[in-house]
Amino acid sequence: MEATAYQNFMDERIAQITEACTHCGKCYEVCPMVPYSGAKGAEPERVTKSVIDILNDRPHEPEGALWAKVCQKSGICIEACPEDVNPREMLSYAKLKLQNIESGETDIQEAGRAYFQDLSRKIRFMAALQLEPELFRNLTAVRGSEASKVDAVFYFGCNILQTPHILISCIDVFDRLGLDYEVAGGVGHCCGINHIRRGDLESGAAMGARSLAHFKSYEPERVITFCPTCQMQYSEYQHLYTGKPILPMAGDSKSNGEDILPFVHITQYLVENLESLRGEFTQKVEKRVAVHLHGGTDGVEGNVMKILKAVPGLEFVEIEQLSDHGYQCPTLLIPEAKAAMREKLFDSARRARVDSLLTVYHSCHRELCDLEKLEPFAIENFMTILGQAMGFEYPDYTKTYKIYEDIDRVIHEAGDTLRAFGIEPEKMREQLQTALYG
Ligand code: SF4
Ligand code: SF4
Repeated sequence: MEATAYQNFMDERIAQITEACTHCGKCYEVCPMVPYSGAKGAEPERVTKSVIDILNDRPHEPEGALWAKVCQKSGICIEACPEDVNPREMLSYAKLKLQNIESGETDIQEAGRAYFQDLSRKIRFMAALQLEPELFRNLTAVRGSEASKVDAVFYFGCNILQTPHILISCIDVFDRLGLDYEVAGGVGHCCGINHIRRGDLESGAAMGARSLAHFKSYEPERVITFCPTCQMQYSEYQHLYTGKPILPMAGDSKSNGEDILPFVHITQYLVENLESLRGEFTQKVEKRVAVHLHGGTDGVEGNVMKILKAVPGLEFVEIEQLSDHGYQCPTLLIPEAKAAMREKLFDSARRARVDSLLTVYHSCHRELCDLEKLEPFAIENFMTILGQAMGFEYPDYTKTYKIYEDIDRVIHEAGDTLRAFGIEPEKMREQLQTALYG
């Protein structure tokens, strides 16, 4: 089969990484996932040499694969590399290579498609439980040639639709700050990661490229993101989607003098507009709070702290936590690492006697929110706190319904909302159950 622009991109990138990497092993040494991997205790040089062999389709020692498989993309390794390689990127190609060795092309494509279909269904059910259908349609519309120029596109991704109170809070804040923007999100604007994660670079990159073209049709100066995956994909891998030739080495993908559309996380936008944001705060939020943090997405941890420190009345406490365990909760797939991260987080929050533990990402919120029922504190998203400071709050039905643990009660309370969406609750009971409770 003829190589595509996406494969060419990856091959070119692999050639650059291979040339730059000296197998010094420093990335492996700092990686917080090594203790959870079968590569624990291995010689760092041997592990990293093995990764380079995987990238180049050469026979390889097992340690490289063992390490690559536990990478949870925290990005701690990026700073550690003396050669300006991005080891997170290096391992993502190694994973793709391994997936393609272990499974056939058809199986990989099928797995990506099946996962994406399930995800689309889940997102629709979760949104249908809590959003007006017309609002859902407006939020997820692909406008294409009907797009008109705006200063910014708010690219909210797909999964935030499962916690719509966070999404609507963002929109409310943008409106109050007077941003000239359009929204783009839902599965019609996917970055392609769901296919790429399953080894299907081709379908994922094509999908992400289409979404990038949609964003560009608004001729925006920047794209503001919420999802850490979307932010990572379109900042570290934008060249993958454009198919443009690449630069000397890592990190630089952000500025190559090319037609690169800047993607910034919402927390960066809010920090840039902190004085205007302060001007919108009309209420004191008298709570003692701590924030659940993940590293791996440029500047987000520091930005969130700056934003929350500006909220009147809020008492902000820093707590010990394992913020180097993954870049968000749902993709932290090593059970022991996930358990350790949660145990440390909840224990620290309890000991700090907070009123609320705040999530940053919608993805973490979705996973953690119902644990509130076991704790002496609330679990809220930081956008909810900003709303409270501005005098508005959208109910967190995701948390409410998850805490019920009772699909009959959910159907009883949300039945009309579901029917308005064209979903007959009794017929879709099982799917609703799966969407809410897994
Ligand atoms: S991105 Fe994080 S988990 Fe992955 S190799 Fe780097 S430090 Fe380890
Ligand atoms: S990626 Fe960088 S830190 Fe890792 S082995 Fe290669 S040169 Fe060393």
